[in-house]
Amino acid sequence: MKLSRRIDNLPPYLFAEIDKKVAEKRAQGVDVISLGIGDPVEPTPQNIIDKLCEEANHPANHRYPSYYGLPAFRRSVADWYKKRFDVDLDPDTEVLPLIGSKEGLAHIDLAVLDPGDVTLIADPGYPNYTTGAILAGVNPVHVPLVEENDFLPDLEAIDAATARDAKMFLLNYPNNPTSAIATDGFFNDLVAWADKNRVIVGHDNPYSEITFDGYVAPSFLQYPGAKDVGVEFHSLSKTYNMTGWRIGWVCGNAKVVEALGRVKTHVDSGIFNAIQYAGIEALEGPQDIIQQMREIYARRRDMVMEALGKIGLSARTSKATIYVWVKVPEGYTSASFATHILNKAGVVVSPGNAYGPSGEGFIRICLSVKDDQLAVALQRIKDSL
Ligand SMILES: *Cc1c(COP(=O)(O)O)cnc(C)c1O
Repeated sequence: MKLSRRIDNLPPYLFAEIDKKVAEKRAQGVDVISLGIGDPVEPTPQNIIDKLCEEANHPANHRYPSYYGLPAFRRSVADWYKKRFDVDLDPDTEVLPLIGSKEGLAHIDLAVLDPGDVTLIADPGYPNYTTGAILAGVNPVHVPLVEENDFLPDLEAIDAATARDAKMFLLNYPNNPTSAIATDGFFNDLVAWADKNRVIVGHDNPYSEITFDGYVAPSFLQYPGAKDVGVEFHSLSKTYNMTGWRIGWVCGNAKVVEALGRVKTHVDSGIFNAIQYAGIEALEGPQDIIQQMREIYARRRDMVMEALGKIGLSARTSKATIYVWVKVPEGYTSASFATHILNKAGVVVSPGNAYGPSGEGFIRICLSVKDDQLAVALQRIKDSL
C-alpha cells in the first residue's frame, strides 16, 4: 500500500508522542509527573456543566448544528469582544465557531493559500501552524523568536523576497511556548507590515485571560487596521478549563472568516448545540473562574521560578500563559535535557526544539498540574542534576 507524500512529511503530533512516552514509563512502574501538556487540571465551572446538561435534554439540540454556528453563540462572542477589547464584530460575517481553535488553525491554509504558496510561522510556535501548512501543500517558512528580541518576530529582518511571497503569518501572544507578551508597538508595526506586504495575519490568542501581576493582554483586532489584514483565533479551552469540550472561534476579516467557513462546511458539521449554549454560559455567566485560575497559575509560576533559581536554571518571569520557558544548562540540548529529566526524575517536560528550530536550547514547563505534584516534580528535577 502506498500512502501520500503529505502523510510522509507529517511529523508525529508532539503531544501524542509525549502521551506515548508517559504511558511507556508508567507501564515500567515509574510514577511519572507530566509538565508536558498545557491542559488545565481544574474542572470546568459548574454553571457551564449544568447548562450543557440542561441543553443536552432538548431534542432540538440532537440534530445537526448550523454549519456556521449558533447565531446566539456568535453574538455572545461579538459581545464579549466588545466588552473585553472594545472591538466591534459583526456576529454574522466576522465570527465563526470552531471545534476548538486547533481545528481552525489546521484548516486555515486550505482556505487562504494554494499549494506551493509560502506561509510564515512564528518559531518556536504551536505545532499545528506548521502541520496545517503541510496538509495543504503549503511551504512553511519559520520566523525566529529570539530572547534578544523579547521573543517577538523582527519584522524588519524578514527579507523583501520572503515578505513579498508570503501570503499568511501565524503567530500568538501571550505566547506558547515562550510565555512572552507583545507590546502595542509590535502589533501596530505588524498591521502596517502586513498591509504593506499583503500578508494575512492569523493571530492566535487563547491565553488572553491568563495573565498575571496586573498585565492585561490585548486582542490583535483592537489595533487600527487589523481587521483589514487578519483574523484572531480564540478559544474557551484555557480560559474556562474546557479543553475537552472542543469549542473556540475565529473572528475578524470577513473574507477570511467566510473562506474558512466554506472549507468547514465540507469537512465537519459544526459543534454540538448544547456545547455552544454552554459556551454562551461561559462567556456571559459568572467570571470568577478567571481570577481564581490567574491566582493558581501565578502561584505555580512563582514555585517554578523559585525552584529554578535554587537549581541554577534560568527563565524569564512570565506575565501570562501557563508556561515557563527554561534555558537548558551547558552541555545539554533541548532533547537531551528533556530525556535526562524523564529518565532521572520521572518528569515530562517538552523539548523546545519540538516547537521549531529556534526553540533549541530551551524546555517548556507547564503549570497545569496540582501544586503538590508540581512541588514533587521540581524537587525531583533538582535531585536529578
Ligand atoms: C491550546 C492552544 C490552542 C488550541 O486550543 P483549542 O481551542 O483547545 O483547540 C491553540 N493555540 C495555542 C497557542 C494553544 O496553546
